[in-house]
Formats: sequence, C-alpha cells, structure tokens
Amino acid sequence: MEKQLCQICFTEIPFQARYPNYLCEDCSSRAVSKNGRPLLFENIDLSGGFSAFYADTREEYEDEHICYVDSKKCWADEHKFGGIIIETIDPLICSNLDCVKSNIIKIKCSAQKSQYSLEKIMKQESLFLLYDLKFKDTGYQPFYNERLNFIEQLNQTFSNLVVFLGVDYLIKKFGEQIYHMNIGTKSGFDIYTEDESIVAEVFSVVDHSNNRKLKKDITKLSSLSKSKKFIFYYSHNHPEMMEEIENDIQIVQFGKRELIECMNLKY
Ligand SMILES: [Zn+2]
Repeated sequence: MEKQLCQICFTEIPFQARYPNYLCEDCSSRAVSKNGRPLLFENIDLSGGFSAFYADTREEYEDEHICYVDSKKCWADEHKFGGIIIETIDPLICSNLDCVKSNIIKIKCSAQKSQYSLEKIMKQESLFLLYDLKFKDTGYQPFYNERLNFIEQLNQTFSNLVVFLGVDYLIKKFGEQIYHMNIGTKSGFDIYTEDESIVAEVFSVVDHSNNRKLKKDITKLSSLSKSKKFIFYYSHNHPEMMEEIENDIQIVQFGKRELIECMNLKY
C-alpha cells in the first residue's frame, strides 16, 4: 500500500497522489504569517474556494496562500475535494517510490499549466512574445500553484526531475528511508540522509564536458569521509546511461531513456 510522511514531522499520513508534500493536521494547525501571527484557512462556502485570516482578529490575511510552519515556507490552498491543504512550497523529504512518482507528476502538471499559458501569448508579435517570456510571470512554480517567470521554471524543471531520478535510484539501491532534498538554489547537498551517510549532488546540462559542474561536485564530495557519495546528472549530448566511480564517488549519468520514462509518468 502507498505510504506518505508529513514533510515537517515525518509522521505517517494518508497517501494523496495529488499532494505529495502535504502536512499532517498537527503541523498544519501551526501555520503562521511571516511575522509569526497564527493563521486560519477556510473554504468560502460548501462549493469550495479559499480564504485566509489572522486567527486572533479575523482580519483578512494579505499574503493569502503563503504561510510558515516551523520556519518552513508553505502554501495553503483549497483541497481539490473540499477542505484546506497545506504543503511545503518545495518537497523537503521523499521516502518512497510512490512519492517520487507523485512529485514528478506534479512537475509535469505545472509544465502543462505553463503550456496553456504560453499558447495564449504565442501569437503576438515576436519581440513582444520574448519580452513577456523574459520579464513576466508566464510560467508556474514547479510544486505549488503560483505564477513564476517561464525561463526560471524551465531552468528548474529538469534539475528537479533529475533530483527525483536520483532519489528513485537511491531508494532502489538502499531501500525506503527518509531522503532530504535541497530543491532549487538552496545550499547544502541536493539529496542526503539525516545522518549524511548518503549524500548526492545533482545537475542537468546540455553537455557536461563543456561545463565545470561535474568537476566542482567531485571536488565538493571528495573531501567528505565515510559517506556514500553520489553525483547524478543528465547531459543532453550524452544520451546513454553510464556509471563510474571516481575518488570514491559513484557518478551516475542518466540516459535519455530514463528521463523520457519519467516524463511519461501518469497517475
Ligand atoms: Zn506533521
């Protein structure tokens, strides 16, 4: 049976494919504003909708969906089937293959929303189109329902997919356990276990031989002793899966087949 853990306290919660990064009730009840005031989220009526208030005064909460639980940035929203759901804005942990799959599909859903949004602006004059792509929020955040600059989304999407290919690889090799992730530009290892007995760096590029990223990651990981160390990457000009070991680091180049398999995933 599918399992899922709360992103903040790691207790087991019912599996929800559409919400791979949601919080348990207890953690959700601790949602506060940026300056620490408790918040309340409600549907507008029986048909759904979303409204946000300060819990103490019932004043409307101006940031609406953005909230914080134990200093982790989260996104509160109406649940597709009624009620309220709070998720971390990026996945913080992933512990099994079902959650890998749900997150990949989530990335895909945000790509679909951007595709619809781009279809609407495609027909304008060429430079106006490029202007919109460069400066406006024509895309969507990969893991929550907020607008984002499309180029930014594009830059994040394939690195995020490779992070989940990496987690998938580690779960198949070492079994289910909690893998922490630093998605996007956050510092720290891209994937790691709590005790750092397993650590991994991740990237995706057009051609890794023209890019210093691989060397930099090898240098970064070489100085660590004890850990099982991995580098996962996708390099468009080298479409075959390949594995090698350098300085005690297992380097895994995912092939185009692995990437396409994950791009084709469906619920
Ligand atoms: Zn929790």
